[in-house]
Amino acid sequence: MAKEKTVFVCSECGYEAPKWLGKCPACNQWNTFYEEKLAKQSGSKYEKKKVAVPMVLNQLEKKEISRNSTGFSELDRVLGGGLVKGSLVLLGGEPGIGKSTLILQICNTMKGEGKVLYVSR
Ligand SMILES: [Zn+2]
Repeated sequence: MAKEKTVFVCSECGYEAPKWLGKCPACNQWNTFYEEKLAKQSGSKYEKKKVAVPMVLNQLEKKEISRNSTGFSELDRVLGGGLVKGSLVLLGGEPGIGKSTLILQICNTMKGEGKVLYVSR
């Protein structure tokens, strides 16, 4: 297992510090430090590991998501256009409301898309 080292980086100017700082000594901005993990590579060099960084919403790129129809137009509408591959949907309701019947019908419709796993408790 690769050894990890942590470094704190200023999101405004890129200044790096070994511990978290409230104010950046380089650009004098407050609360701009975020934690970044460095993984030790085969040599003695540490390289930056990808860590989630908070972003401003209007700077995000829009990605097209493909959706598969469940076979039920009303359910597709509630799901925003159908099921997204790799997503998880929790279906809840009172006993006897028809959750299992609906899911089995969706499984029957979706079986052409690939493998279907139905888990019930
Ligand atoms: Zn800074």
